[in-house]
Amino acid sequence: MFQKILIANRGEIALRVLRACKELGIQTVVVHSTADADAMHVRLADESVCIGPPPSRDSYLNIHQIVAACEITGADAVHPGYGFLSENAKFADILAAHNITFIGPSGDHIRIMGDKIEAKRTAKRLGIPVVPGSDGAVSDEKEAKRIAAEIGYPVIIKASAGGGGRGMKVALTEADLEIALQTARTEAGAAFGDDAVYIEKYLQKPRHIEVQVFGDGFGRGVHFGERDCSLQRRHQKVWEEANSPALNAEERSRIGGICAKAIADLGYSGAGTIEFLYENGEFYFIEMNTRLQVEHPVTEAITGIDLVHEQIRVASGGGLSVKQEDIKFNGHAIECRINAEDPRTFTPSPGTITHFHTPGGLGIRVDSGVYSGYKIPPYYDSLIGKLIVHGRNRVECMMRLRRALDEFVVDGIKTTLPLFRDLVGNADIANGDYDIHWLEKYLAKEE
Ligand code: ADP
Repeated sequence: MFQKILIANRGEIALRVLRACKELGIQTVVVHSTADADAMHVRLADESVCIGPPPSRDSYLNIHQIVAACEITGADAVHPGYGFLSENAKFADILAAHNITFIGPSGDHIRIMGDKIEAKRTAKRLGIPVVPGSDGAVSDEKEAKRIAAEIGYPVIIKASAGGGGRGMKVALTEADLEIALQTARTEAGAAFGDDAVYIEKYLQKPRHIEVQVFGDGFGRGVHFGERDCSLQRRHQKVWEEANSPALNAEERSRIGGICAKAIADLGYSGAGTIEFLYENGEFYFIEMNTRLQVEHPVTEAITGIDLVHEQIRVASGGGLSVKQEDIKFNGHAIECRINAEDPRTFTPSPGTITHFHTPGGLGIRVDSGVYSGYKIPPYYDSLIGKLIVHGRNRVECMMRLRRALDEFVVDGIKTTLPLFRDLVGNADIANGDYDIHWLEKYLAKEE
C-alpha cells in the first residue's frame, strides 16, 4: 500500500479523495494555487504545497510543479481526481518515468479513449454496441454524403479530438450536410488543433446511460451498474441517478456484462465509465472516461462500496476488494450538482458564502469543500457541492430529496438549488420520464 498520496486537484473532489486516504491510513499531500490557500482540503491535509498562481495552466495543470511537489514531499502516488490532469496521458507517462504511481489507467489506455475515433473503433472491436456511422474520419463531402445516405438522416458530425460538447453539428437533411461538415471542421480545428471529424446517426430522444467499470489490474473486469445522467444542460450533467429509471435488471446485467468483459479484454486497470446513448431498448457507445466521475457517489450509495478506496487498492497492486457477485444494488440514489450559478441563466456567481448549512439525516450525503465565510474564487469550475440522497426505492429517494433541498441553506451567492426544488416537484421527473433534451426544453418553457 502507498505511504503518501498527493492529490492533484481542488474543491469537493480533493476533499473526497483526502477522506478516502485518511480512512486507509495513508498520508496526504495537497497541491494548491494561491487562490485556494484557504480551501478546506488544504486545511485538512497532512502537508500542502503551493504550486502557482490562480490560472489552472500555471498551477493545477502544471505538470513540472506537481512532479516537483511529489519529489519534495516523497509522495509515492498521485490521485488526479476528475478534470485537470486526470485524462492526460503525458502526465501518467511522466509520473511512471519518475516511479510515482498514477492512480488511474495506463497512459496508453488514456490515449486510446481520448481519441474519439480510436475509442469507438476499440469499443466496437471489444463487442460494445456503437452508434452506426463512419468507420473513422471522413475525408470529404462526397464520402460524408454516401455514409449519411447509408445510415439515414439526421446525422451528427463530431470532432475526433472533441470534448465538452464542442465541435458537434447536426444535419437534418442532405442539404445541411455541407455546411455542418465545414462548421464542425472549423470549430474542431480552432478548439482542439485537429480538424478530423466523423459522422454518426443522430439519435432523437435518447437517454444518457453510463456504466461504471473497474479493471482490477490482473486482467479481470467488473461493473458497478449504471447511472442515468440524461438531465443535462449544454451537455453538462445536472442531476444523476442510479439505477436508471429506464432499465430493468435483465438489461442492466446484459450491458454491465458486456462492459466488464470489454474491460477485462482490454487489460484495463482502475476506474472507468463507458457512456452510452440509450433509445428504444438499444445501447449506443459514445465515449469512455478513464477516471473517476463527478457522479460516482450515486453508485457508492446503491452498492455501499467506496470507489476511491478501490482505485487506491487497484493502483497499489492489491486488486479489488469485491468480485462481481459481491456487488449488489440496493435502493435508489440521486445526485444534484450544486453550482454557484444563477438557477435560470446559469451565469457564474462567485463571491463569499455568508452562511452554509447542509441537510442531514438518514440517506443524505453532502460532498462539498465550502463553509460559512468561504470565498469562492472566480477562476475555476462553479461546482460547489453535491447533494446525494439514497432511499430504499425511487419514491422514498425523491421524498427524502425534497426534504433535504428544503433544509439546504447557501447564503451570499446564487446557486442552482432553486432549480432542483422545482425539478423534484415535476411530474415527468417523478415518473422518471425524461430524455437528454428534457431539461433544455423545460428551461426554455420557464423563461
Ligand atoms: P463530448 O466528449 O464532447 O462530451 P460526447 O460524444 O460524449 O461528446 O457527446 C456529448 C453529448 O452530445 C451526448 O451526451 C449527447 O447529448 C450528444 N450526442 C453525442 N452523440 C450523439 C448522437 N449520435 N445522437 C444524438 N446526440 C448525441
